[in-house]
Amino acid sequence: MKFELPQLPYALDALEPNISKTTLEFHYGKHHQAYVNNLNNLVPGTPFQNADLETIVKEGEGGIFNNGAQIWNHTFYFMSFSPNGGGEPTGPLAEAINKSFGSFTSFKEQFTKAAATLFGSGWAWLVKNTDGTLEIIQESNAGNPLRNGLIPILTCDVWEHAYYLDVQNKRPDYIGNFWNIIDWEVVGKRF
Ligand code: MN
Repeated sequence: MKFELPQLPYALDALEPNISKTTLEFHYGKHHQAYVNNLNNLVPGTPFQNADLETIVKEGEGGIFNNGAQIWNHTFYFMSFSPNGGGEPTGPLAEAINKSFGSFTSFKEQFTKAAATLFGSGWAWLVKNTDGTLEIIQESNAGNPLRNGLIPILTCDVWEHAYYLDVQNKRPDYIGNFWNIIDWEVVGKRF
């Protein structure tokens, strides 16, 4: 199966000043693209040569998992944004957030803390458990909640390549900007 870099639903400068065009040129245009190229080079001749991306995320190991999951994670992350984003979710997702975390403010604080304290490279996730409750988890490197049977709702990439060009070492500033561009309509449909 040939994997391709997905088209973004916004221009590379559309998320400024929260995420710069330069960051997207590298993060999407170089890093995300490299994971696609790497996976296409890795799968031929393996049991995954005809597998779809979700199967690779759930069952892959080593480089095939790392590159496949990074494609999945980055696509999920980039598709969560809109130049008209920000604010708060509505509907069933908002109700579930209130039920699981008490309020949107409390959820935002806990998710921000999870993203800020994740040591090294990885992803903070909001996931839905099998009983419908929500939970915030941290995954290192290419980690993805699908491997544990959880449903991903929202993610924040805290690899340094996600923010270093814009805010250098100030990861909390990047996380603060992240909330300004979330497309809650897209994210809410995942719940
Ligand atoms: Mn990244």
